[in-house]
Amino acid sequence: MAYTLTNRYGQLRAQRDALRQLADTDGLTGLPNRRAGLARLDRCFDDARRDGTPLSVGFVDVDLFKRINDTHGHDAGDRVLVAVADALVADVRSHDDIVRMGGEEFLVLLPGVDSADARARLEGMRRRIAALAPDLRMQGLQLTASIGLATRLAADTEPVALLRRADDAMYRAKHAGRNQVA
Ligand code: GH3
Ligand code: MG
Ligand code: MG
Repeated sequence: MAYTLTNRYGQLRAQRDALRQLADTDGLTGLPNRRAGLARLDRCFDDARRDGTPLSVGFVDVDLFKRINDTHGHDAGDRVLVAVADALVADVRSHDDIVRMGGEEFLVLLPGVDSADARARLEGMRRRIAALAPDLRMQGLQLTASIGLATRLAADTEPVALLRRADDAMYRAKHAGRNQVA
């Protein structure tokens, strides 16, 4: 009886873990989704504040992605998103640090990374994305991304302040001509 109950409990726990994993994961890219990503950002933010360590974030938005869908089709657009996700993941320590925020937007979490190092890391990601097109074998594909960088300030009391600055910076990158880090 005790053995059966223990076994049953183990099964339920495994099911619960599997459901949680599903609820936290973006189906297309396998990355943490927005909900899971924001929870992770909260934890990074609290750690950084408590320990006095830097925290930088990058807001990545694929340039003119609607045109990619319109020109090459939605399935091709999906393949582009997976390739961008893989390119971003290739440059982080933990898979949890790249989040699909929705559509063609990704968040890069860089705990422990200051502004200057974050700029270099994000610049590397931008370059890697800009080099993806030939391997995707889509005639005339133009693939770049604009990236907004923000680093936690002592005055930031909420992670949302950091996200807002990263988002503002991303729009500055767009307005300055896209395919750049701002
Ligand atoms: P900008 O350079 O200003 O960011 O232009 P944009 O075309 O990238 O921006 P916009 O927000 O107009 O278009 C984003 C498009 O992304 C629109 C939407 O149909 C498409 N999209 C959102 N989610 C997905 C998805 O999962 N797969 C595909 N293929 N397309 C998606
Ligand atoms: Mg967008
Ligand atoms: Mg876009």
